[in-house]
Amino acid sequence: MKAARLFGYHEPLKIVEVDYPRITKPDHVVVRVKGAGVCHTDLHVVEGMWQVSFPRTLGHENAGIVEEVGDAVEGFKRGDPVIIHPAMTDGVCRACRAGEDMYCENLEFVGMGRDGGFAEYMLTSARSLVKAEGLDLAEIAPMADAGLTVMRAVKKASIGLYPGSFVAVVGIGGLGHIAVQLLKLMSSAYIVAIDVVEGKLRLAEQLGADYVVNAREDPVRQIFEITGRRGVNVAMDLVGVQSTHDTCIRILRKGGKVVVVGYGGVINVKSQDMIANELTVEGSLVGNYLELADLVELARQGKVKLVTKRFPLERVNEALNMLKTGELVGRAVLTP
Ligand SMILES: [Zn+2]
Repeated sequence: MKAARLFGYHEPLKIVEVDYPRITKPDHVVVRVKGAGVCHTDLHVVEGMWQVSFPRTLGHENAGIVEEVGDAVEGFKRGDPVIIHPAMTDGVCRACRAGEDMYCENLEFVGMGRDGGFAEYMLTSARSLVKAEGLDLAEIAPMADAGLTVMRAVKKASIGLYPGSFVAVVGIGGLGHIAVQLLKLMSSAYIVAIDVVEGKLRLAEQLGADYVVNAREDPVRQIFEITGRRGVNVAMDLVGVQSTHDTCIRILRKGGKVVVVGYGGVINVKSQDMIANELTVEGSLVGNYLELADLVELARQGKVKLVTKRFPLERVNEALNMLKTGELVGRAVLTP
């Protein structure tokens, strides 16, 4: 079968022939990949920000059709459409029993710690599958990470929101365009969308953002104007470069919170300011199984829609490049 694999940091992926994944445990499942979202984390793996062994098949936001199941798998059979939680978990550690899959003591993350979905088939375990009948699998594939990550982050953000409060969504890319929709569903705050690309700001408006701010034009000043000089209650940093980290801290009002989702920079906040203004900085990592299941239900109800651009597997490097340069509107999805 074909797979897009990374053979070394800072190298383009190569399309190569690899062995069909072999079931070695009774809870294993092989899925025929119908959609694999392309994520900034894939770029970060290529850049060497995460340690992986080579060669590695990337791709952690996957959906497809069950091809084969291990002897102990119940509830899933060949032909079932599924979306795949990116973490393979043991199910028995304290974190798993608390429902926090991402804290699992034996976590294996597909597309990083083991091979992912930039391939015709991938291996996972039954615990990671959410049924996805009636959904377009290529379209919903990015729910497995982009959507899931935003689901968890918006839940964290919405704790600090009330009718008439303000939430800033920094970065209207693959995550941000979902964040606007989920904030609309889960809060009654005014949504301020921030980006540097006009097309992405227009998309945010269409999806329900109340205000848009082009970050090329002094975003801090614009946000203080929008919020009556108070600042926002919550800022969601979905980009994670130094300038967005710094902007998010500067636009918070007293008691404000920044939810950090995008990564790469350093959060600089003076402890004196943190105390004087009671600021909170909260990280958010992917999401748990139930958060994915809930998101798939929202998709089924038609309440969350993904904007996707499809690429055949062979064009994976083009998709990665477009993500890097910021020219993609919505999410790139490979269709192996
Ligand atoms: Zn566990």
